[in-house]
Formats: sequence, C-alpha cells, structure tokens
Amino acid sequence: MKNWEKNIREITPYVPGEQPDFPDMIKLNTNENPYPPAPGVTRMLKELQADRLSLYPNPEAKLLVNELSVQYGIEPERIFVGVGSDDVLGMIFLTCFCSEKPVLFPDITYSFYDVWAKLFRVPYRTMPLDEEFRIHKEDYYTENGGVIIANPNAPTSIGEGLDFIEDILEHNQDSVVVVDEAYVDFGGESALSLLEKYENLLVVQTFSKSRSMAGMRIGFAFGSKRLISAIYAVRNSYNSYTMNYPSIMCGAEALKDRAYFEECTGRVIATRERVKKELKALGFSFPDSKTNFLFATHESVPAAELFNMLREKHIFVRYFKMPRIDNYLRITIGTDAQMNRLIEVLKEYLDGCRR
Ligand code: PMP
Repeated sequence: MKNWEKNIREITPYVPGEQPDFPDMIKLNTNENPYPPAPGVTRMLKELQADRLSLYPNPEAKLLVNELSVQYGIEPERIFVGVGSDDVLGMIFLTCFCSEKPVLFPDITYSFYDVWAKLFRVPYRTMPLDEEFRIHKEDYYTENGGVIIANPNAPTSIGEGLDFIEDILEHNQDSVVVVDEAYVDFGGESALSLLEKYENLLVVQTFSKSRSMAGMRIGFAFGSKRLISAIYAVRNSYNSYTMNYPSIMCGAEALKDRAYFEECTGRVIATRERVKKELKALGFSFPDSKTNFLFATHESVPAAELFNMLREKHIFVRYFKMPRIDNYLRITIGTDAQMNRLIEVLKEYLDGCRR
C-alpha cells in the first residue's frame, strides 16, 4: 500500500438492486411503480425552459415545500426535502444521531441504515425481528441514541399500526425517533398524526414508490421546527443546492394530482391482492404485505434457484443472500400483464419440478 493510500477511507457501500436494460425485461427488483408519473409531470417536463438552468435553484425548494405543506396540512417550516429519501435519511443520521449511545433498528430492515451508521461513525445496535419477521417493540425500551423503524418494514413488507409506533415514541422521549414510510401509501398507517404530540419524531416519505418518480429523486421529512431547522443547518454545511430545478417543478406538479395518486396506488394494491392468491396457489407463502412488493418463500423450491431461473427469462426480482432471509424473494408488484407473465413462468417451472 502506498503512503497516500493509508489516508483513503475504506467502506463497504450499500448495494442497490441491479438496473438491467433489456427491451423485453420485467423489472420487479427495486420496488419502482409500474405506472408513469401524473400527467402534469409530463406537461411540466415539456414546459421547462433550459435557459432557467443557468441559475441556481431555490435552495429551500420553496415551491415543492409549499405544495407538500398544502397537500399534507403541515407548515413549511416543518418540512425537509432531499434527493430521494436516501439523502433525507442520510442527513438525519448525520444530524440527529450524534450520541455515544447506540442507535437502534431491526436486524432485518432497509440495509442502508447500517451503512450510514458506519459512514458517519454512529454507534448502532440491531434488534432481532421475531420468527414471523415482526418487530418486538419492547426491544426499543432500552436506553439509546436514536431509533429508526421502517414502517411498513422492508424487505419484510409488514406494516405495524399507529399504536405500535406511539408505544415506541412513548418509551423514547429522550432520543429522536425516525419512521421511514417509503411504502406507507400502499396500505400502511402513517405516523403523521403523531407529529403534534412528539417533537422528537421524524416521518420520512418518498416520491420514488407511490408517485412513480424514482428517477427524479425526491424525498421529504416532516418533523418539529427544531428538528427540521437542525437538519437544514447540517445540509447547508455540506451542499446548499441539493434539489435541482426540474425536480422542484415536477415534484410540485405531481403532488397536485391527488386523484391520479389514489388511482395508481389503488391499482398496485388491487394487483397485489390478486397476486397473493395466485402465488399461494403455487405453494408460496409470505407476510401480509402493506407495500408494493411481496416477500415470498416457496414450500419446496429454494429462492436462489427461482431467482436465477427468472433472471434467465429476464424477469428480475430481488434476492438477499443474508442470514434468515436467504430463502425469500422480494417481488415488486408490476402491472397486471407483468404479474401474469411472472405467474405463468413460475407455474411452468414449478410444474416441471413436480414431474
Ligand atoms: N427507505 C426504504 C425502506 C426503502 O426501501 C427505500 C428504497 N430503496 C428508501 C428508503 C429510499 O428510497 P428513495 O431514496 O428512492 O426515496
């Protein structure tokens, strides 16, 4: 190793799901929405003037924040926006988890949490999910430097109720509690109503799933003025202009179309409920998903084998080679046609295995 190399940071990064590019592929591996963004977003993209790009964007992304404020009924001073909820969560780790005590989160959850903890040198402790992949809330009654819970959780797809989240808040009034609600719009229960009561609560959501805008990178957090201004102070000590002009304009436009949002999430939910029945008939089991994906295991065929078989046919699902979940596939809910093809391919393969 050369001397200068000794000063280089070594870290094992988060590995996102692959982004293959085949014309015939069915992409069910990164929980994207199979439907396009609201029509207003397409219109806005056509109207945007390239000339405007010569200027810096508004550093507070005011237009977007104001629209979030209108749609969710929360004051603009209580809203933080970032480049996807990954950026928002990363800034929260950097701002809110500065204790010597460990931050707590489940052992099976969004696998970026421990990467941020290591990157920002935040001590952390993972709390094991039970046999049915449920969070054991009593685990979070212990002293800590913060709590982060994905609700619904990923990749398990399980959503806990408001009482469950409130109980964790009740027991954690001395640290910041973050609820990552990336998937909440597909049937989960949001903790937004608890914001008035708990000023140590942050609720994080994203445009990547329910608003079909993963490619635009917009995430947001709601919290008390004190917390939100602290996160902005850290963000502004790092990069004042995280939100680009097209994202601000298109994000605001997407929010205005509530009917489209409800129609799209409704369609994903309806497809999910149908696919649950069909996968069950093929011998799969899974927790009762409140998300836009299913976390499925098969009664006789290993998940790794199914993953590879599907991959060869250009049907991409997610497989985690990790303890306790290495016999599960995380399958994003696509369009009805995509899911029909998935079921057809699985059925054909499983019939072949039985013969
Ligand atoms: N939280 C959870 C639980 C997720 O699964 C994801 C998606 N990978 C994110 C946050 C981040 O999503 P984004 O940065 O696209 O908003």
